[in-house]
Amino acid sequence: MKLREKTPTRKSDVAHQKDYHAYRDQLASDFNHRCGYCDDRDAPRAASFEIDHFVPQTVDSDKITDYANLVYACKSCNNAKRAKWPTNDKALPNNGKEGWIDPCLKDYEAQFERLEDGRIHPLTEIGIWMYNNLKLWKKQHEILWNVERLEVNYNQLRALHKQGLLPDELKDSLFQLCDQLLEVLKSFYNVV
Ligand SMILES: [Zn+2]
Repeated sequence: MKLREKTPTRKSDVAHQKDYHAYRDQLASDFNHRCGYCDDRDAPRAASFEIDHFVPQTVDSDKITDYANLVYACKSCNNAKRAKWPTNDKALPNNGKEGWIDPCLKDYEAQFERLEDGRIHPLTEIGIWMYNNLKLWKKQHEILWNVERLEVNYNQLRALHKQGLLPDELKDSLFQLCDQLLEVLKSFYNVV
């Protein structure tokens, strides 16, 4: 499967701000309320999402308030990425083996796939480098992906139930089980 359903696109006509934090709402919207790197959704922990500088502030101080250089990112990815810039050339995000690809490029998606169980799997040499340096192997990405899918399927199941299309013998235990499971999984949001 593809890593994500939609490629984020930064709007090109965003008014310049002196403080990059002022871009937050616009950036969240342009990134479809998902981390640009791992595709975790921000709800219900949007407050913990951060603004990453694609070219780190220490590498190019001219781009600190440049909207085109910002990535909406979860805490995990932003903390893992930090100021890593292996090419040491601010104009060169990667050398084909190490470094970064802007998550707003289609090419970013070509570096990874999503396995059926929700894990992110790197497909290329640079994909492996980003996978390791963003710690995309962390269990939370797999769990959060599955929580989201469970919610979608559960809502569909409830709709069928309302229409009387769910067999009686299954529904009580099924709904109870799903309620319990969702609560357990949602509690995970508080620790990531
Ligand atoms: Zn992330």
